[in-house]
Amino acid sequence: MKKSFLMLLIGGMLFGSCSKVPVTGRKQLGLLPESELMSMSLTSYNQFLSSNKVVTSGSEVAMVKRCGDRLSKQITSYLQANKMGDRVAGFKWEFNLVDDKTVNAWCMPGGKIVFYTGIMPVCRDEAGVAVVMGHEIAHAIARHGNERMSQGLAQQLGGVALSAAVANKSQETQQLFATAYGIGTQVGAMLPFSRLHESEADEMGLYFMAMAGYDPRVAPAFWQRMSAGGGKTPEFLSTHPSPSTRIANLNKWMPKAIQYYNAASAR
Ligand SMILES: [Zn+2]
Repeated sequence: MKKSFLMLLIGGMLFGSCSKVPVTGRKQLGLLPESELMSMSLTSYNQFLSSNKVVTSGSEVAMVKRCGDRLSKQITSYLQANKMGDRVAGFKWEFNLVDDKTVNAWCMPGGKIVFYTGIMPVCRDEAGVAVVMGHEIAHAIARHGNERMSQGLAQQLGGVALSAAVANKSQETQQLFATAYGIGTQVGAMLPFSRLHESEADEMGLYFMAMAGYDPRVAPAFWQRMSAGGGKTPEFLSTHPSPSTRIANLNKWMPKAIQYYNAASAR
């Protein structure tokens, strides 16, 4: 078990599990097969839906589904046009709203999305829904879950086994391993890494909503409302960039987002 997992790690490292995140171009590691994550995600998604109250009618659920359809279609054609269609290969998009006052939303691998009714007042309208939808879909497209799991598993396995595995390799190779997996840094490495993911999802999400024809200029105000008391779940609180950093970043990315928005409006 341990040995086969080690082989998986080494195999992943040597044979192409290093890929680039769409949009940002950041190099990342994904050691787990996405197809396995998607099948795990399908099971837990269905379990979640059967144990929660799914909203089946009304304007809010219609808005979530309409927004989800628009974003997923545009994102898929953008990725396919840019030779990154593999990022959505096998996705079976699904958008659901559950009756729960928690301010939350998420997207599992494979495009399985849930909005909680508690986030709808913070969204206010469909463009606000698109801010959240873009951000959550971005986490899935960027395979942040795979990256985090890969990192977690490597940490569990520990630096000792990995060092042994690369003992016959050069100092440079060992350094690459150590850097890639954050070995020896443990907790310190996880937190900024997570903030990096949140920031990356913000940037990708901003472009995605704009590509789908939603005005990206509503995003800074949405995140301000969220930080002013909306978000009390881990996804929207603990690991996110500070509000001022986030707004500054959004404004930095805004000109490019507006280009996408204008192109979408002209279609
Ligand atoms: Zn997030």
